[in-house]
Amino acid sequence: MNIILFGPPGAGKGTQAKKLVDFYGIPQISTGDILRANVREGTELGLAAKAYMDKGELVPDEVLIGIIKNRLQEPDCEKGFILDGYPRTVPQADALAVILDEIDKPIDVVLNLQVPDEELVKRISGRLMCSKCGASYNKTFSPSKKEGICDICGGEIYQRADDKEDAVQNRLKVYKKQTQPLIDYYSKQGILVTLDGTKDINEVFKDIKAVLAKFA
Ligand code: ADP
Ligand code: ADP
Ligand code: ZN
Repeated sequence: MNIILFGPPGAGKGTQAKKLVDFYGIPQISTGDILRANVREGTELGLAAKAYMDKGELVPDEVLIGIIKNRLQEPDCEKGFILDGYPRTVPQADALAVILDEIDKPIDVVLNLQVPDEELVKRISGRLMCSKCGASYNKTFSPSKKEGICDICGGEIYQRADDKEDAVQNRLKVYKKQTQPLIDYYSKQGILVTLDGTKDINEVFKDIKAVLAKFA
């Protein structure tokens, strides 16, 4: 099962991807997580990406294509994969199509999580992340059991630099301009399914499973 999880920042892609990993046993490929890990480790890629990320801009298209290509060919992607946060531009979607064609792994479905801007801003400003396993929490909507500590792995929980007000507004603008056109792009291919992302986390997950039942 080859899935793209699509939606604006804060729509719940990471949250749902983690649940899908547990349920279907296929990996989540999050370009945001990959980039943040590189920033943490101070790699060349991380150094190149950090300035873009902190401002809420996209990193240049060519930066991620090679990474995605290699990642999709790792053995754990044999039975499928969940792309989270990739593609985000038309050139990225075109590049992905070429790669997937080469390795003969077509996308089954693009799940588009729809959430209005006011709700996105509320969610993102409350978002907290585990520094170790990347689990996503929310101060208001889904706090960890113990403040500051991840329920899953015991790691430390922090707020992302780009989840502060200025960067958030810019990320929503960037989403509308550069990423939203992909809704049409995948809709024309007949593989886009739009879901109501405002429901609670488990309700959204139920809706996703209902869609995926066709492909399992
Ligand atoms: P994305 O990966 O799309 O940017 P996340 O999965 O990180 O989004 O979710 C953004 C924030 O909103 C997190 O703090 C998360 O806990 C919270 N969240 C996710 N899904 C829901 C939901 N259905 N209802 C309320 N809050 C949610
Ligand atoms: P979001 O919560 O906005 O969905 P992500 O964790 O997916 O956040 O991405 C965080 C940042 O990493 C983005 O604002 C961007 O700077 C960079 N990034 C992640 N994925 C991509 C991508 N596919 N193309 C370009 N930049 C990306
Ligand atoms: Zn954790």
